[in-house]
Order: sequence, then C-alpha cells, then structure tokens
Amino acid sequence: MSKISMTTPLVEMDGDEMTRIIWKQIKDICILPFVDLKTEYFDLGLKHRDETNDQVTVDSANRTKELGVAVKCATITPNAQRMTEYNLKEMWKSPNGTIRAMLDGTVFRAPIMVKGISPFVSCWKKPITIARHAYGDVYRDTEYRVEEPARADLVITYKDGREERSTIFEFTGGGVVEGLYNTDKSISAFARSCFNYALDVKQSLWFATKDTISKTYDHRFKDIFSEIYENEYKDKFEAAGIEYFYTLIDDAVARVMRSEGGFVWALKNYDGDVMSDMLASACGSLAMMTSVLVSPDGKYEYEAAHGTVTRHYYRYLKGEATSTNPMATLFAWTGALRKRAQLDGLADLEEFAGKLEKASLDTIEDGIITGDLNSLLDHPNKKIVTTEEFLKAVAARI
Ligand code: NAP
Ligand code: MG
Repeated sequence: MSKISMTTPLVEMDGDEMTRIIWKQIKDICILPFVDLKTEYFDLGLKHRDETNDQVTVDSANRTKELGVAVKCATITPNAQRMTEYNLKEMWKSPNGTIRAMLDGTVFRAPIMVKGISPFVSCWKKPITIARHAYGDVYRDTEYRVEEPARADLVITYKDGREERSTIFEFTGGGVVEGLYNTDKSISAFARSCFNYALDVKQSLWFATKDTISKTYDHRFKDIFSEIYENEYKDKFEAAGIEYFYTLIDDAVARVMRSEGGFVWALKNYDGDVMSDMLASACGSLAMMTSVLVSPDGKYEYEAAHGTVTRHYYRYLKGEATSTNPMATLFAWTGALRKRAQLDGLADLEEFAGKLEKASLDTIEDGIITGDLNSLLDHPNKKIVTTEEFLKAVAARI
C-alpha cells in the first residue's frame, strides 16, 4: 500500500509527561503506517525549553506564522515544585500563553461527542464550540481596597496633558474598587478569529455581552463585532448559510441550555472562563475536549484541552500499564492534518483525517475504551484497555 503524501510540513510541538508518551504512540500506531508524514519538529518538553532558555517555544510560534498549521502536545507550565523537579534555570512562562500572545489568537474548544456518552444537558445533540477572548478585562485589572471614607475617581490623561475625570463612588466607609480595560485592536482580532472560524466549520456564530448595563464598555464589543460583520463577513456568512447572532449574556445562557448545539459561542474573557468549564463538565470529560488556537490572519495551532496527565505519568514511570485517553490529542493531529490538506488541496489526506476520527469514535462505540470513560459510556459490554491497545484498535478500523 502506498502512503498518502504531504506537501507542506506541519509544525510539530512535542511536550511533556504522559502526553509525550501518547504523542509518539499516536504517530507510530495511527499515522505513520498510512501517511508519509512531513513535520518540522520542535521539542517543547520542559528540559529542552530550559536548555534553550525557552527560545524553542518562540521559534515554534514563529514557524507557525510562516507555515500556517501547528499541532501541539500538552506541556508543563512550571511552578515552584517543577523548578526543583527539573532543576530549572528560570520559572519559564506557559508555552500556551507565549504562543497565544505571538499569534494574537483566540482559543476554540469543543467536546468530542460519541454515541453512548450523552451530555448531562439532554437536548444537546451537536457540539457547542466556545471561543473565549483571552485578553484584558478582569484578568488585567487594577484593584483597590478602600478602608475609610474616600472618593474614587476615574481619570483619563491624554498625550497632550488633557484630563477627563468622573467620580466612580463616594465611599462613606470601607469597600472595594476595580479598574478594567480592553483595546479595539484586541477585540477586533477576536471578532475576526471568530468569524473566520465559524466560516471554516460552517456553523453560526453567537456573541453575547451585557451591553444594556455596561453601556460603553460591553457596547464597544457589540459594535466592533457588528461593524466587522457588516463590512467583511455578511456576504460570506449568507453564502455559507450560517448566521451571526448577538444577544444579552443571560439570554444567551438560557438559549444555550435549550438548544441542540452545533454553533460557535463567542464570549468575553470572564464569561468564557466560566462557560468553558460548564461545557466541559456537562460533556463529561476533559479528555474528550479539543482545542484550537486561531489567529485573525488564519494561522492554526491544534492541541488537547487537558494537561500532561502527571498522575498517570508517575504510574507509567513505575512500570504500570496506563489507560490514558488519547482522543483529544488524536483529534489535535486530525484537525491539523485536515487543515493542512485543505490549504494544500490534498483530498486523500483530508479523507484520511476523517477516517481516523471515525475509526476512533467507532472504537469507543464498540465499547473499547480507556478507564476514564468507564463511568460515562453506556454500553452492554465495555472493555477497558491500555492507551496502546486502544490506539491499535483504532488503527485496525481505519
Ligand atoms: P491534567 O493533566 O489535565 O490532569 C488532571 C486529571 O484529569 C488527571 O489526573 C486525570 O484524572 C484526568 N485527565 C486529564 N486528561 C486525561 C486523559 N487524557 N485521560 C484520562 N484522564 C485524564 O491537569 P493537571 O494534573 O492539573 O496538570 C498537569 C500538568 O499539565 C501541569 O504541569 C500543567 O502545567 C500542565 N497543563 C498543560 C496544559 C496545556 O499544555 N495545554 C493544560 C493544562 C495543564 P485521574 O488522575 O483521576 O485519572
Ligand atoms: Mg477556568
């Protein structure tokens, strides 16, 4: 059998711990026997990040800007304990944060849905994709605790020295005060990423804020989305048969709970933080959640939503066979291969990505699963297998 060929390489970002082990197994068992895989390899494992003073992360992000599509393994974000464990020179920043900042991208997360694992919200039939604006608002705020009677003012100082001032509140006793900001540039980049992604997956885009209460701040988000939609995307959306829909955040939540899914839901930073955890838990497992970073100029980085599954890795190091779920990492690979295929016009590679996804879903629907799905899957004769056995069962179905 001749292997499927590729033209442009994927940017391959390897990672840490259990997911690093799974990474190699996915390639060896499910991809390399079928595809003449072309990648440019960057080792984002913590040891190599430390050796290169984190330059490897920056290099991989730059290469993604050039080549357009990357696939990333989960990586350790160092903390004090990791400093000693890996004897690190510095507490390097989160690679995901670095890459996101360099690509100015938005993260889209969606559950992988299979027959037999029903979401806790029983009307959800199709996945809901959450797009979270990962910049500003309460995550970059300035806060004060006021201890005694005082007046809090908001002061804007322009370059030429002009000042605008308004009183926030006259405190007669203790209290708290908080200053927030966002920028037109970041909101616009977020909006374009969302419109592009919705067109990509041919699903309608919902966006929600609280503009009736926040008449300037949230209203700016609403206006930017609306202007960009009218000027740049309306025709494309109509041609694709999808819609852009704006509503208030509380109304959106009510509609989402009654919907059948199958749309992209764009949210401000805090709302996205809260709602993505709601979605993940309603769909059962972080191991069944995919994630893709999309830049406003159409560069893509695919990954799993979960971390490096440290607890399983320590068991693996002791020689125990582990049953870690490879689905989210497998879907990162199929997402990246499909996008590469579409950009390069490779019909057989695109078809392969679809076949690999279907084979993995069929495996679960046949009752062959990793341990985490045991309590979630409704099936008469389930068989719990190791990660390697699961991937072999997938390969057999391709
Ligand atoms: P985690 O790796 O997502 O794992 C938390 C727990 O969730 C695991 O112990 C396991 O539960 C379950 N789980 C997650 N993925 C699973 C899978 N594929 N199959 C089966 N079970 C799965 O989160 P963490 O333990 O908080 O973080 C570990 C490391 O990952 C940290 O160093 C953190 O910095 C990093 N991290 C990286 C990313 C990223 O690169 N995108 C994201 C988050 C965290 P049981 O142990 O109960 O089986
Ligand atoms: Mg959160």
